[in-house]
Amino acid sequence: MHENLNIVWLKRDLRTFDHDPLFEAEQLGENYIIVYLFEPLQMKHPDYSLRHQQFIYHSVKALNKTLKIHNREVHIFHTNADTFFEYLTTTYNIKNVLSYQESGTNNSWIRDKKVAKILKDKKAKWIEFENQAVIRGSKNRKGWDKYWFTYANSTIIRNVYSFNNFKLLKSPFDFYINDFPFIKKYPLEFQPAGEQFAHKYLNSFVKDRGKDYNRNISQPEKSRYSCGRLSTYLAWGNISVRQVFQTVKKSSNYKIHKRAFDSFLSRIKWRSHFIQKFEVECSYEHTCINLGYEQMKYTNNDIFLSKWLKGQTGFPMVDASMRCLINNGWLNFRMRAMLVSFLCHHLEQDWKRGVYHLAKLFLDYEPGIHFTQFQMQAGVTGINSIRVYNPVKQSIDKDPDAMFLKKWIPELSSIDNALIHEPWKLTEIDLIDKIIPEIYKQPIISAKLARTEVIKKLWDLRKNELVKKESKRLLSIHVRSK
Ligand SMILES: Cc1cc2nc3c(=O)[nH]c(=O)nc-3n(C[C@H](O)[C@H](O)[C@H](O)COP(=O)(O)OP(=O)(O)OC[C@H]3O[C@@H](n4cnc5c(N)ncnc54)[C@H](O)[C@@H]3O)c2cc1C
Repeated sequence: MHENLNIVWLKRDLRTFDHDPLFEAEQLGENYIIVYLFEPLQMKHPDYSLRHQQFIYHSVKALNKTLKIHNREVHIFHTNADTFFEYLTTTYNIKNVLSYQESGTNNSWIRDKKVAKILKDKKAKWIEFENQAVIRGSKNRKGWDKYWFTYANSTIIRNVYSFNNFKLLKSPFDFYINDFPFIKKYPLEFQPAGEQFAHKYLNSFVKDRGKDYNRNISQPEKSRYSCGRLSTYLAWGNISVRQVFQTVKKSSNYKIHKRAFDSFLSRIKWRSHFIQKFEVECSYEHTCINLGYEQMKYTNNDIFLSKWLKGQTGFPMVDASMRCLINNGWLNFRMRAMLVSFLCHHLEQDWKRGVYHLAKLFLDYEPGIHFTQFQMQAGVTGINSIRVYNPVKQSIDKDPDAMFLKKWIPELSSIDNALIHEPWKLTEIDLIDKIIPEIYKQPIISAKLARTEVIKKLWDLRKNELVKKESKRLLSIHVRSK
């Protein structure tokens, strides 16, 4: 007779507070274990990168410190979920598996179907909790806003933990950190992982940093201090949306910095809004949100693409933004949008050629936001205005003192602030005592940044019948009716 056991399966919810599955596991009153799975099939997907794994591992490590006094820990396994549950259900009498719903890529839906079948066959119940007001099976946005606010204002769960007396047997899938030396060390350039740091960032935002939120949001350097910088913690669930919302709303500074804080809170809601879109149609990973834009033709030049990937285009703001991301995994919204616009509109590359590169680089990668935002910036949704960002204008407007440029392109650090945004304009006299790389004298495309064929085609397609039909369909699913 196998021992009874419940399982809490952590995914993008690496925290110990405001956690429904962990709360329910305690309520059930039976032995339970907490697991995280490093799943080879998910990790092989082109959106996954080492930095994601590093952040996850170090978040779990931090959880284990918190759970230690309850003699509990998050057990990490290295295997696919179906193999894991197949194994565990033959070793123990698994009664309940508790987790959050995942609004992931198709890959995760396929995995979940397999797991559901195994658990059903083994008569184990899978209790999936709704994740932060993203509604499963929603057909349209009727009542969604109200639903979101009800969630955001609802009571935060104060998880308590009983002392664990259950000892898990060794398994063939146990994860040994010494087999993965490259994730053991956490790069100092990245935001520190774990629940405690999420709260530290949130508190510092509310206490002081947030007052300049609106003023600096589009500036690549200053936004690093005045933006929330919570995206990574939200993406991996070190903190919940509701915890963030209520902390900001209840802070004594809320009334003082109301405009800035409300702006921030509206973005917290956008987060769920974008994830809700992807929950309904995860095909956005591979195909244009507006299927009419699948007709787009791009020139797709491999040399341009490889220069963009490395931050070697010769356009200082493009290169600085990419190099910053490569270094530490975070960039402000405006410069993310500019990188995509430059790739698709100026270099005339299909968005599909760049989307995984940024997914891998973003420490805060969240499929629901990423694929939808990427396509919005590429101009292929049919329902949003097509914004073409000029990297020179962005550079002059948003980094006038060149702090960001000089930090990430040291090759240009000797150039005067007034000239650094357009180094190709430097004359022989300007450069008489300086050397700059050739690429900044002659960027990969003309610095005039004329209106390209892609930009014209994107606008022309707005009149296309299929694009119009698709736009109507999208509005009916993703936008609330007035
Ligand atoms: C091409 C592209 C890809 C993006 N990919 C991601 C991604 O994978 N993960 C991700 O979290 N954000 C993504 N964003 C949105 C946005 O750039 C980041 O959320 C933001 O820069 C994170 O910094 P912050 O936490 O300081 O944000 P703040 O400005 O402090 O905002 C607070 C929170 O609101 C949410 N948020 C902010 N802006 C947006 C937005 N435009 N859309 C949806 N939610 C938003 C985030 O959860 C963020 O943490 C992307 C934007 C673009 C243009």
